Amino acid sequence: MGQVRYRFYKELNDFIMPALRHIESIHDLNRKTSVKDFIESFGVPHTEVALILVNDIPKDFSYIVQDDDTIHVYPSSECADMQQILRLRPKLSHIPIFVVDANLGRLARYLRLLGFDCLYRNDYSDDIVAKISRESERIVLTRDRFLLQRKIIIYGYFVRASTPKIQVKEVLKRFNLFHLIAPLVRCTRCNGKLKKTEKQKIEHRLEPLTKEYYNDFLICVACRQIYWQGSHYGRAMHLVDEFKKSGE
Ligand SMILES: [Zn+2]
Repeated sequence: MGQVRYRFYKELNDFIMPALRHIESIHDLNRKTSVKDFIESFGVPHTEVALILVNDIPKDFSYIVQDDDTIHVYPSSECADMQQILRLRPKLSHIPIFVVDANLGRLARYLRLLGFDCLYRNDYSDDIVAKISRESERIVLTRDRFLLQRKIIIYGYFVRASTPKIQVKEVLKRFNLFHLIAPLVRCTRCNGKLKKTEKQKIEHRLEPLTKEYYNDFLICVACRQIYWQGSHYGRAMHLVDEFKKSGE
């Protein structure tokens, strides 16, 4: 059918073979293909792509690749000033909320600690993650690039780091979340909202020393977990500070 020239920019190169990174390459076209499938044939999930220029003109994922095309593919970090011309996906209509795939439980708990709405269960299937994402405009966080190649997922991010704390810093940076950090508003166990509760209402559930030394308590409206400023609290706040500082 012919040949096309293509190039992936910046962090999109994380996905492609080392020999093909950061250079313009030539590809033999042997079948009719959409530019989405073309891009993903190199291992780059469509959710990572913010702008596609074909012969210098922005195109969407349904564009059918033609003989002699020159295709340049950019991630969002390269397109911060180009929101108007993107239209690869609608802008999120609310602050980022997430659905986290079953392998990233600690990332989900840390994000909840920082106040972010983060659905996660260790028995979520890929189908469920994709469905939740689509229905509630939640950003999929995963280390599974094949999950992100599903067409029904509009918003997603491939988490590069394998260490949970570094993953958190990566997500905060990618979605510019540092100014939205709000600890102690969300249950790390279930994602439910926390509210103040009177001590007398829950003191039958407290250990004797906790009952003696603490007076301020929060309770999860969903799972009824109780939170107070005990030893866990100090460690948690230390962690929150560490995450906040990573944005300075
Ligand atoms: Zn809870």
